[in-house]
Amino acid sequence: MDSLFADRINDVPRSFIREILKVALDPSIISFAGGLPNRDFFPADELQQATQKAFAHSGKDLLQYSSSEGFLPLRQWIADRYRQTQGLEVSPDSILITSGSQQGLDLLGKVLLNEGDGLLMEAPGYLGAIQAFSIYRPEFINVAVDGLGMVIEELDRRLANHSPKLAYTVPNFQNPSGISYSDANREAVADRLRGKPCVLIEDNPYGDLRFSGSPTRSFYDLLPDQTVLLGSFSKCVIPGFRLGWLVAPDALMQKLLVAKQATDLHTSHFTQCIVHQYLQDNDIDAHIRTIVDAYGGQCRAMIAAMERHFPASVHYTRPDGGMFLWATLPDGLSAMALFEEAVKQQVVFVPGDPFYSDRENSSTLRLSFSCVDDDTIEVGIERLGLAIKKMMEAQS
Ligand code: PMP
Repeated sequence: MDSLFADRINDVPRSFIREILKVALDPSIISFAGGLPNRDFFPADELQQATQKAFAHSGKDLLQYSSSEGFLPLRQWIADRYRQTQGLEVSPDSILITSGSQQGLDLLGKVLLNEGDGLLMEAPGYLGAIQAFSIYRPEFINVAVDGLGMVIEELDRRLANHSPKLAYTVPNFQNPSGISYSDANREAVADRLRGKPCVLIEDNPYGDLRFSGSPTRSFYDLLPDQTVLLGSFSKCVIPGFRLGWLVAPDALMQKLLVAKQATDLHTSHFTQCIVHQYLQDNDIDAHIRTIVDAYGGQCRAMIAAMERHFPASVHYTRPDGGMFLWATLPDGLSAMALFEEAVKQQVVFVPGDPFYSDRENSSTLRLSFSCVDDDTIEVGIERLGLAIKKMMEAQS
């Protein structure tokens, strides 16, 4: 059978997270591994009411095929929200509803990447993006991100030798590291790409989940003609409907529509109508505040526990929002080896390797705080601290 598989799929890294989630099914294991939003905040009752109302209003039309662009009232809602929350002028005609923002990544790869084309990628970066783009067999041009965003000296070195067609960024509360790009960093990145034949992707599923610090400028504001925005209802409403969107300039949108039609004709009309009804009848900002208050508290609890239980030589990010933080082990200790020890201590996380397109045995790890309460965080981080100390002792 192996000889039948297309080269494009053989090159794609398997999702390590799926393997880890199998381990995490054991209830005695504390998991900081999953990247899931907390189900406690899924508005199940409200969505049930919205479903009934949508049926009462539209009947069987809810169940019919629909337009590839997506449900116009939902696109209008998204456009209005860009104006209200970020002061961005986005026309509903520039918005394509996708089956999760993950599909936006695939469509962009399909439309823009020939084999061997340059793709500027954050390192570490979202592994689902590495996976989605790998199908199109680009040349990954990795640029490190630090606490302020892309490392500009490294970006300059890469751009001196490469001409990427696509640049992929998660500038707000990045998955996996939790870091955000500063305004100065965004301006510096935009300056480097302005006027070049390159599309910048601002993937922003976590932007609404800010629990500290102040808002920053969108790349769409800095580089309007070259930026594609990706958005998602997964983190602020529910992920199960698979509803996201992208915002793209007209010429690109025409090609994306062809790719969308070829892929799945359109995203579920049914779920679009339900979410639109939900958004009409509920205060989404109040809902987001509830999520943000919880995640902010959990993030602070995790940092406080790390201060107590981790050796001082372990470094970690201090996110202003989102669902993740990122730790770096001392002396090149392997996070994959730590994972083995941590499973023995009944705690799991995601080792850094899958977040790089080109690295093994990294010393970094992702910890998710979205689905764990303060007491669990305390116990889990204490166990992880113990595992780290054991490894450090074994090394010395
Ligand atoms: N981009 C990033 C950075 C993500 O973290 C995720 C989800 N983990 C996605 C895109 C995909 O989200 P969805 O398809 O659910 O909108």
